[in-house]
Amino acid sequence: MDMGIKGKTALVCAASKGLGRGCAMALAAEGVDLVITARGAEALEATAAEIRKLFGVKVTAVAGDITTPAGRAAALAANPDPDILINNAGGPPPGNFRDWDRDIWIKALDANMLTPIELIKSTVDGMIARKFGRIVNITSGAVKAPIEVLGLSNGARSGLTGFVAGLSRKTVAHNVTINGLLPGPFDTDRLKTTIAAAAKNANIPLDEAAERRRKENPAGRFGTAEEFGAACAFLCSAHAGFITGQNLLMDGGAYPGTF
Ligand code: NAD
Repeated sequence: MDMGIKGKTALVCAASKGLGRGCAMALAAEGVDLVITARGAEALEATAAEIRKLFGVKVTAVAGDITTPAGRAAALAANPDPDILINNAGGPPPGNFRDWDRDIWIKALDANMLTPIELIKSTVDGMIARKFGRIVNITSGAVKAPIEVLGLSNGARSGLTGFVAGLSRKTVAHNVTINGLLPGPFDTDRLKTTIAAAAKNANIPLDEAAERRRKENPAGRFGTAEEFGAACAFLCSAHAGFITGQNLLMDGGAYPGTF
């Protein structure tokens, strides 16, 4: 299926590895020119080079922390008017809310709520003027069903989701959609870190902890960045202009509800 977005431009945040990288790859495969960001320049340049080689699209790599004003300014300087915006950043740490002070909360809100809102604010009016825009926020299954130890993620990402629920109904008349992609367990560095912590807590080998996590999912496996990217590319496609304000859970069926 031709997604109908060849020649469009995208800003994909936090894209040197994992789910952001999966989204960047899938958009590039559709002929989209990219600005990609990540904190570490080396891995980011390697991803940019790989995408250029595989798909022949223009890729600009901007190293920096997207959760800071300087990081966002650098990303937007590389392309102030993207047609597609993929909001992503590292997730907050786990813990007990009794240990979290205001600074810890502000950091989580900055990363997983206010940064996406700032980037939407900077780009959405240009999209509206051009009558095409696709914004995808990479959030978490924690938006649908809270994960106890990830209270910072539950709170910050739900705040973003609530904000977008309102705005996305205003932009869609201009062919600008905003949706959330909610990952369950995907085979990335982030998941490896979580599994390593679980293995340590349970005093079991890493392989065993990973196998337990795989088995507890109805699919019997973890998702892949390629699968995640393909869903993202569809939400960004010319065919998805009637889908807005939605939150697509990709979790192998782990969420047990009918809806
Ligand atoms: P990952 O650790 O594999 O990759 C993270 C990428 O983001 C890297 O390229 C890193 O350089 C970049 N990055 C992180 N913080 C950044 C920042 N402040 N500025 C710029 N770049 C930054 O992570 P992932 O698994 O791809 O996860 C992506 C998002 O999805 C995270 O917010 C994560 O919490 C969330 N999530 C992931 C899973 C999962 O199973 N993988 C599940 C639920 C939610």
